[in-house]
Amino acid sequence: MTRFIFITGGVVSSLGKGLSSAALGALLQARGYSVRLRKFDPYLNVDPGTMSPYQHGEVYVTDDGAETDLDLGHYERFTGVPARRSDSVTAGKIYSSVIARERRGDYLGGTVQVIPHVTDAIKEAIRADLDDTDFALIEIGGTVGDIEGLPFFEAIRQLGYELGPEQVMFVHLTLLPYIPAAGELKTKPTQHSVKELRSIGIQPDLLLCRSDRPIPEGECRKIALFCNVPQERVIPALDVDTIYAVPISYHAQGFDTQVLKHFSIDAQGEPDVSAWERIVTRARHPEGEVSIAVVGKYTGLQDAYKSLAEALVHGGIANNVRVDMQWIDADVFESEGATQALESVHGVLVPGGFGERGSEGKMAAVTFARTKDVPYFGICFGMQLAVIETARNVAGLRNASSTEFGPCDEPVVGLLTEWRDGDHVERRGSNDDLGGTMRLGGYDAVLAAGSKAREVYGAEKIFERHRHRYEVNINYQRKLREAGMRFAGFSPDGELPEIVERVDHPWFVGVQFHPELKSKPFDPHPLFASFIEAAVAQSRLV
Ligand code: GLN
Repeated sequence: MTRFIFITGGVVSSLGKGLSSAALGALLQARGYSVRLRKFDPYLNVDPGTMSPYQHGEVYVTDDGAETDLDLGHYERFTGVPARRSDSVTAGKIYSSVIARERRGDYLGGTVQVIPHVTDAIKEAIRADLDDTDFALIEIGGTVGDIEGLPFFEAIRQLGYELGPEQVMFVHLTLLPYIPAAGELKTKPTQHSVKELRSIGIQPDLLLCRSDRPIPEGECRKIALFCNVPQERVIPALDVDTIYAVPISYHAQGFDTQVLKHFSIDAQGEPDVSAWERIVTRARHPEGEVSIAVVGKYTGLQDAYKSLAEALVHGGIANNVRVDMQWIDADVFESEGATQALESVHGVLVPGGFGERGSEGKMAAVTFARTKDVPYFGICFGMQLAVIETARNVAGLRNASSTEFGPCDEPVVGLLTEWRDGDHVERRGSNDDLGGTMRLGGYDAVLAAGSKAREVYGAEKIFERHRHRYEVNINYQRKLREAGMRFAGFSPDGELPEIVERVDHPWFVGVQFHPELKSKPFDPHPLFASFIEAAVAQSRLV
């Protein structure tokens, strides 16, 4: 029997519901239970794939090719359970399925309504594709009281009623703001948020209270009394110095113990949090520091590169160093000599990206790294630009470019019109819809003997996640090889270049996929571990 834990948020957004859910998932796992984590987002986009990173942050891609909310990245990093398409549901996805059913005539002449048709579809999605998981943790996006969230809250209210407290638990995350003038933490916003939740029929079973300082016992008692929640289920969620300390901190406050109590499960001993303790110790006591420049377009918003930042941290953990990330807007490198600012860094990383703006600046950063022997890591767009840079500056193809920026004489990177996915062929044209039409999700790649990638992975075959519409044009392979580029990885049919390296450089690797999506604190991605290792070596030189 799967038990459902619904995690809702109140008072303000950005309280870290995703992290809280992920940390609870990790704790239940550490007690030996299987978990699945899911995100239900009330907005009308079918998925975040077409949203600007400034609106939504990173788009997290699953093995099965779904473009999802970045919280799924937290879930995967904390639990190691690969997220699936069914774990990311939006109002847009629900409504389009309801409307498609209506068009098919499935509602047999009835009036189609939010209740029961939309709420039924939400309930179906909550319970679908769960196998025999012990706990499903379902996070509802947004904040209680949002108009667009109402059908979701109504659906979980109904499920709570239908399945009963032995199978359903409601966790509500709130904020206790500190008012300096009064010298107090305030409980009123929490009271109001719970009142709002109760007005739509949901009584929270446990409150998780975010606060930047310890919450006095009296305040916890007050919250318990006003919100109808036993005091031991008012759990302080205090700020911590590293996100990987959250599971330990929650456990110390009794979160997982209270969850088991709610479900009348006898807690057998303590969860094994030793892996988290090891990670936190390493994060808190590094033996050195390296500085990595991340040259991108959305550097003003860290959420746009969430998994990347975490993967760099993991690379640091693997090498016992702190990674100082310098987020640099690529535009700054478009003026002559500006890349001198990179003299002090120990590695340059150009992440995934779209569109022409900033691409020349990114290529200037590539030139710097290539010619100065500074470790270079190009991810997706960062790989494509590294190839164009070699084509232009080493192979002498002055007009080399990507057709992503418009028609060009030397399309070293071009539109991907056809590729193999298992036993069928996917085809695309330049006028296709933008949503969900890229080459998405996990694909195999075969690594060349003698390549850096093969050495780093210690394997011949890898499986990595993709999100791209353009590809390195294989017709330029010979010229690029002659210019010092090694094709270190290909799709199994040998058609799509997956990894390039420079043979004359200590660490210069470009990958067409997104390795950052699969890195975990307890299992750092080999490419990130190796890149940071190269940066450590570089730091000894400068
Ligand atoms: N814009 C490039 C493409 O579509 C790279 C995409 C990416 O970096 N994710 O192929």
